[in-house]
Amino acid sequence: MVKIDGRTALYGIIGNPIEHTLSPGIHNAISGALGINAVYVPFKANGDLKAMVKGLYSLGVKGLNVTVPYKTEIIKELYGIDPMARSIGAVNTLKYTEHGYYGYNTDILGLSRELDDEGVELAGRHAVILGAGGAARAVAFLCASKRPASITIINRTIGRAQDLKTDVSQYAAGNGMYELSENVEVLQDTQASELKYDDCIVFQCTSVGLAPNDNEAVINDEEFYKKISTGVDLIYRPSETLFMKNVRKAGKTAHNGLKMLIYQAVSAYEIWNGISVPDEVVENLRRMLV
Ligand code: NAP
Repeated sequence: MVKIDGRTALYGIIGNPIEHTLSPGIHNAISGALGINAVYVPFKANGDLKAMVKGLYSLGVKGLNVTVPYKTEIIKELYGIDPMARSIGAVNTLKYTEHGYYGYNTDILGLSRELDDEGVELAGRHAVILGAGGAARAVAFLCASKRPASITIINRTIGRAQDLKTDVSQYAAGNGMYELSENVEVLQDTQASELKYDDCIVFQCTSVGLAPNDNEAVINDEEFYKKISTGVDLIYRPSETLFMKNVRKAGKTAHNGLKMLIYQAVSAYEIWNGISVPDEVVENLRRMLV
């Protein structure tokens, strides 16, 4: 039971649509478990982002998450931005500071923590990204930061994949990873079986397969699935997507995006409150959401 008084700190999420969000349940459960006097609510945005951010800031809202379609547009309303979020070009977490809101991207922190939990090591490996939208951009930069041998971006719209390739190659070169910067490649999704590498770690970052379209996968070619050692689908509803089924049918390991979702929220909570959320609280969140 949430107790609200004159000292309750207010947090929330801005997006549209927002009705489906799981974030209030996650954040309020963490506050409840840790006995922190805070409440987290959804804010349905309707266009005037500048006025909304100004209003929330002047009311002292301590932290905000930002979701579709505002993760990029929000950047111009911030006083500062974390360098990795700047490279990605997307922010999902705002922290109140005395100068204005400061932006982070905790989607990549969330995925990084999921990979640590599952023992997935990217250094020296071949990373493959299905998609070139907002989530794929974050994943591509996370992969690059972990120094893989190569990154292949596979997308329906090849131009978007090429744009992402340019940005990731520049990031790699700018951070001294010259060999990687030469090994970022693109493929059209219809040519996925032409992937050059075996034993790949594949991140499914398209919206294909999202409930209720459980029987769809962006790639159905069996040859492609033979080249995967681990598949990570960012989708968490359904808990086993057709992409994951195909990976498992090929005898390989697959994970969904639930831990990423939980850890992006946990990472935002930690940034806002300057604390570390204990493992047992994270495990209880996972049980609550399975
Ligand atoms: P987005 O920016 O809209 O990008 C969608 C991507 O899917 C694009 O690459 C798009 O290709 C591709 N796509 C869509 N329909 C397709 C189709 N019929 N055939 C082939 N490709 C198709 O979306 P997003 O924000 O990146 O989100 C992508 C997914 O990641 C969503 O399912 C979302 O729920 C999930 N996600 C999960 C987490 C988590 O915490 N677990 C976090 C963020 C996102 P084109 O470029 O050709 O249009």
